[in-house]
Order: sequence, then C-alpha cells, then structure tokens
Amino acid sequence: MLFQFCPHCTSAKITETKAYRIACNHCGFVYYHNVAAAVAVVLRYHDQVLFTVRQKDPDAGTLDLPGGFIDPGERAEAAACREIKEELGIILDPRKLKYVTTAANDYLYKTVHYKTLDIFFEYELEHPELGITAPDEIAALQWCHPPTMDLNTIGFISIRKVIGECYSI
Ligand SMILES: [Zn+2]
Repeated sequence: MLFQFCPHCTSAKITETKAYRIACNHCGFVYYHNVAAAVAVVLRYHDQVLFTVRQKDPDAGTLDLPGGFIDPGERAEAAACREIKEELGIILDPRKLKYVTTAANDYLYKTVHYKTLDIFFEYELEHPELGITAPDEIAALQWCHPPTMDLNTIGFISIRKVIGECYSI
C-alpha cells in the first residue's frame, strides 16, 4: 500500500480499494492515486529509431525512448518538445509531431508505484547527429532497426508493446 498511515490524521485505519483509492476510516480522508500521463517520442531517421540507454532505475541499462512525465497544465506536444530539448538538446517543431498511440506502463520510483499512460509521438529527423544533454538520465544513445532488434532489450512494457506493434512489421 502507498501509505501506512493517513496523511491527514495519522490514523492507521486506512484501506485501499481498486488499488488506487486510499480511504481513512477515522477522518474520512480519501486519496486517489490516479494514472500519471507521460510522453515518449519515436525519433526516426529513415528506417532507424533512436533509443536511449537508461542511466537510472527503474530499469537502468535497458533501452528507452526519449520522453518523460507531463507537467501539470502542460500539453502533451509541449512536454514532448521540452523533454527532447532537455535530454538531447534539439528543438523540435511541434507541428511535425505525429500522434501514434498510447500504452499503459508501471513505473516504480523509489517506493512509489505509479501507473502511467504513455502518449507516443513520432518525429522524422533531418539528420542523425545527436548528443546527450541529460547524462544523469541517459547513459548512451543507440539507433535500432525495430524489425530486427531484440524487443527484450527495451525496459518499459509500454515501449516494448508499441515498438513491437507499430514498428516491427
Ligand atoms: Zn485520517
């Protein structure tokens, strides 16, 4: 369970239902641990897709796509452009982002288990030269050809699913 005690009154009489609703039986406090929204960007150059190697847990060392959590009040397209600028130092034209699909993911950060909905966009790059501007998050960059890559090298289930379903044919 996310909490052991009520965050409002500190009572231990809390119950969790449906795995996301936590209610205090003492003071009536209710907390919904709602799904968090995130973006992932499929950067393409011809038939290659750019993957990042995760520097940190969850799933350190596995392949990932550039992206991250959407900030409160932010559009998904703006989050995609912001994350790409933070991680790779390039400015995307938001009008050239193409919506692909969404997929659910489980994200365990420290002791908190987040359920996320990852929104996938695709973007065609004009050249493949890229650097890493967030070395604390990204250990390396790796171009892959989805139809011939080993999908098990991808850490997050949402990304493995979308690359497998939309790019490996
Ligand atoms: Zn309470």
